[in-house]
Amino acid sequence: MGRRKRNSKKLSGVTQKICESKISEKLNSDEKGETGQQEESFSALEKAIDVYQRVSLPLVHSMYDRSPDGSDEEEDAVVLNFCPRFVFVSNLCLICMERSEEACESCGMVSYCTIKHKKQGWPKHRDLCKVLTEVCTNGGGLSFLPDLTADDYRVYRLKLIEIAERRLERLLEPWEKEILLYPRVCCSCRYFSKALRYCPACGIELFCENHDGKHEEWCRDFQVFRRVLFMQHRNGNVDPEIPDTFQDNPLHLPDNFDLLMAQLYSRSTYYCNMDCYTYCSLSHISTIPLTTLYSMQISCQDWETIDTFVVHVIGAEFQFECINLHMWEKFFLHLLPNLKHLRLMFIGPELRLPAVPLDLLTAVKICSACKSLDRRVNVSFHPGKFYHNFCRTKQFIKPNLVCLFNPGLYRETGFEGRDTWPETIREFCKIKVPVCVTSYTKHEIPREIIRIKSIIDVETILEPERNPFASIKPDRNFVSDDAAPLIYKNYYLAIIRGKS
Ligand SMILES: [Zn+2]
Ligand SMILES: [Zn+2]
Ligand SMILES: [Zn+2]
Ligand SMILES: [Zn+2]
Ligand SMILES: [Zn+2]
Repeated sequence: MGRRKRNSKKLSGVTQKICESKISEKLNSDEKGETGQQEESFSALEKAIDVYQRVSLPLVHSMYDRSPDGSDEEEDAVVLNFCPRFVFVSNLCLICMERSEEACESCGMVSYCTIKHKKQGWPKHRDLCKVLTEVCTNGGGLSFLPDLTADDYRVYRLKLIEIAERRLERLLEPWEKEILLYPRVCCSCRYFSKALRYCPACGIELFCENHDGKHEEWCRDFQVFRRVLFMQHRNGNVDPEIPDTFQDNPLHLPDNFDLLMAQLYSRSTYYCNMDCYTYCSLSHISTIPLTTLYSMQISCQDWETIDTFVVHVIGAEFQFECINLHMWEKFFLHLLPNLKHLRLMFIGPELRLPAVPLDLLTAVKICSACKSLDRRVNVSFHPGKFYHNFCRTKQFIKPNLVCLFNPGLYRETGFEGRDTWPETIREFCKIKVPVCVTSYTKHEIPREIIRIKSIIDVETILEPERNPFASIKPDRNFVSDDAAPLIYKNYYLAIIRGKS
């Protein structure tokens, strides 16, 4: 196994981590005679600033001023900027996303920060309000929510959406569905009332008079969630500046995302001032390449010296895995100096490419330093294809690592009513290379591994663990909201390999 075993997981506490890092830095520097670097890295680790410490910071500005003639390094880049859609949260103003004081008197399902915004929103809300009022009060409406099981509660909410759509004679927009998916009820007992109180710290979770507003386990994450939504609503997408640090020696990833960023950005003002929205966005666009790099360091013996590395991403989704491809150059080519050629192949029946010329989609921004050394990131998309079919085509190149990000293998509902996972599982195990699998929640990952093992015999390279390079951008959870109200992409990770 390429990655040295660490004992630090068993020990907690920042001091312990810093001491260990210092020891390992010292070992490295003794070997290589780089005493200056030791001080540098030690201070950076001490200064790691996590997302919670960034909640109150204003939007950060880019640390680079673009040169007026346009940067010479980006002439062949394409920017795919998907505008974020409006996200509905029952206790945030429907107009401005500030914390609400006024619930709609009629439906009680949406709310506004002030009477002014309530008046302003009424013409647009009127039709939906009428339907919501009917749906939520007729035939018991929301009054029996507290008695439903978690599964029935999910089914019930989907039913309400159906009824609302029938009455409105149109489909609901995604944010309108959220009114019913995450209704304005007590987060503890699901009691529905227009007089709920919100948690003063996060301003999101609501409580009835029988529940006192204690939800410490999640409150900090809800604070991040609210801040991210608010800043996203105000500013649209942000484009975090990625640190360009070329490593002379292969960089062994530190214990988590915060430590890595502290190390790569060093002590720059940009790093210290990065607000929580920008930081979440940075982690969100980094989690795919970083989880891949982390898996590579754990499972591929020659990760430090290999010069060509091929990755298959199975079940890829364009808007998540296939954009921001420039991140791969920063994290693979710049952190692994011996790697010359990174090949990424994205395959999936649900992978749909936007109507943009293919050469633009596959073009990856490469810096001039990499270009001059003929180092490349080569990308290919295989949309509308099952992996087991792709393996029999001429385009197939044997991978060094296979990745499945949040795949939901355990769901047997399959694609277009047919469960095709068994064939795909058999195929990626047959190649006998490490396979990295991630999931949104802690309880899903064992189910993913059980599904694979029910099809074929595999060895476990990494037992399911909390992924240190998971996204830190929170999303609400519907599928298993009884287990956790918020979810994160790539939250848990396991690595397996097909047996000979
Ligand atoms: Zn408002
Ligand atoms: Zn209303
Ligand atoms: Zn309650
Ligand atoms: Zn709270
Ligand atoms: Zn480069």
